[in-house]
Amino acid sequence: MKSALIIGGGFGGLITGALLAHEGLRVRVLEKNHNIGGGLQSFTRQGVYYETGMHILGGFSEGGSVRRIFEYLGIMDQLRIERCDMDCMDEVTYLSTGDNYRLPQGREAFTEALCRYFPDESEGITRYLQACYDLTEEVGIFYLRPSETVFAIHSDRFMQPADEFIADFITDPRLRDLLAYMNPMYGGVPGHTPAYIHSLINVLYISGQYHFRGRSQHMAELLSSVIYEHGGEVLTNQAVSAINIVDKQVESVQTVSGSTFRADYYVSTIHLKALFPLLPAGALPRAYINRLTEAPVTYSAFILYLAFKPESFPYINHTGYIQDDYGQIWNHNEYDAATWPRGLMYLTPPTENQGPYAVRMTINCIMSYDQVKRWEKTSIGHRGADYEAWKREQAERIIDKLERVFPDIRQCIKNYTTASPLTIRDYYASPQGALYGYSKDGLDPARTLISPVTRIRNLLLSGQCVNLHGICGVPLTAINTAECIFGLNTIVNKINDYCNK
Ligand SMILES: Cc1cc2nc3c(=O)[nH]c(=O)nc-3n(C[C@H](O)[C@H](O)[C@H](O)COP(=O)(O)OP(=O)(O)OC[C@H]3O[C@@H](n4cnc5c(N)ncnc54)[C@H](O)[C@@H]3O)c2cc1C
Repeated sequence: MKSALIIGGGFGGLITGALLAHEGLRVRVLEKNHNIGGGLQSFTRQGVYYETGMHILGGFSEGGSVRRIFEYLGIMDQLRIERCDMDCMDEVTYLSTGDNYRLPQGREAFTEALCRYFPDESEGITRYLQACYDLTEEVGIFYLRPSETVFAIHSDRFMQPADEFIADFITDPRLRDLLAYMNPMYGGVPGHTPAYIHSLINVLYISGQYHFRGRSQHMAELLSSVIYEHGGEVLTNQAVSAINIVDKQVESVQTVSGSTFRADYYVSTIHLKALFPLLPAGALPRAYINRLTEAPVTYSAFILYLAFKPESFPYINHTGYIQDDYGQIWNHNEYDAATWPRGLMYLTPPTENQGPYAVRMTINCIMSYDQVKRWEKTSIGHRGADYEAWKREQAERIIDKLERVFPDIRQCIKNYTTASPLTIRDYYASPQGALYGYSKDGLDPARTLISPVTRIRNLLLSGQCVNLHGICGVPLTAINTAECIFGLNTIVNKINDYCNK
């Protein structure tokens, strides 16, 4: 029985580990934190639990790729997720004009709603959505199709900057802005983020949007249970501090606690900027390290977690986006002390047995790392009174903005807690608190092109830095990584065979 050691017990490490264990490897996952999960971790404050990262899920509709992977792993029926309202998965409100858009799930309903709001743009809307779906067809793995070639040739639109892609179909600047409302879900940068990323994320959620029912942590625990079931283990408080290389192969890894672990294969799922310092000099080509050390990462966020007084605030079964005005969706990370946050995303995550009232609300506001740079040398729990005061100020600004849509919300709040880009940086070891790994650039795609294989023969890569991030991107990369060991299309074919039975 061959073995695999996985560095990082976040979503990428656990799902790659689960796939490898399912294929017969003895898997051991090493996680630096006290809890597994990374972006799936939940935490509790004053008796209320919250999700640290992932909230909005896609790919779980009947036949969806993520659903099929979870079915193949045998854990789909235990997963607790809730589909958002079919007639409104996302509600987008512009404060400047009071415009409010309620966008349903499903391609047809989504198209019809947009055409109702912007009848003069109907033809462009239909063509734009067709173009989005066409781009997703170029990414076979998105639909769990076996690859026919190792390198795919793409259309010109594939790498076109997403904002320009939208503008090619749509004339009305308000609609151009609205069609980019999911930007905070992929960290898009105008003139750079490729249209294929915009399309994959939009199509993923239009096809069906879900939230966790209860703690996101339970997804991590289900994946961990697959690893245990196949004889593996997931160890916490095991921060990898060094990777030892002998004869161009990993020989062992060491952890801060002083333990040494050995395996046949090693898979790193941590950010590459966090991986490089663990390797001895010369283990990887200097040009590779320089390229990926200098490549930009996506922006970060400030997160406000509200706990509500009992039966005070209604449960809302969709995600909401509040924007100050049109024309700002691509620039939310540009901080302006007077106007921040220019936009926010909120949801009331479903909690077990909650009834018609919400227990909690999570509000994500894009924020650049520069805003917390002055505290970057501090660590969790020791950042000082000025940092705490600054966080309270940001929280109050967010509540002020929420009051513009929910006038009574302040009276409903029992207490709140916050997370800043530094929290994200330190919990996940994510450089600059980046939400989604590297920032992809359609004008310079080679800069962040990362293969799951490395020049170190038995060291593979997985996790959100390799391809796409999130609930769909990370599992698809996990398949790619696992297939580096078992052979191209082996796992995709097995998943399809299993699910077609
Ligand atoms: C605030 C936030 C909100 C998000 N919202 C969504 C959403 O709604 N929907 C969505 O699809 N995606 C969302 N994402 C993205 C999603 O969470 C990530 O794409 C996903 O978690 C990435 O998985 P990963 O394994 O690559 O990284 P992570 O989940 O971050 O896991 C990396 C793990 O490695 C561990 N680690 C780091 N260094 C070491 C070391 N030296 N030794 C051992 N372990 C180490 C970390 O502690 C961590 O547990 C969100 C992310 C954030 C931060």
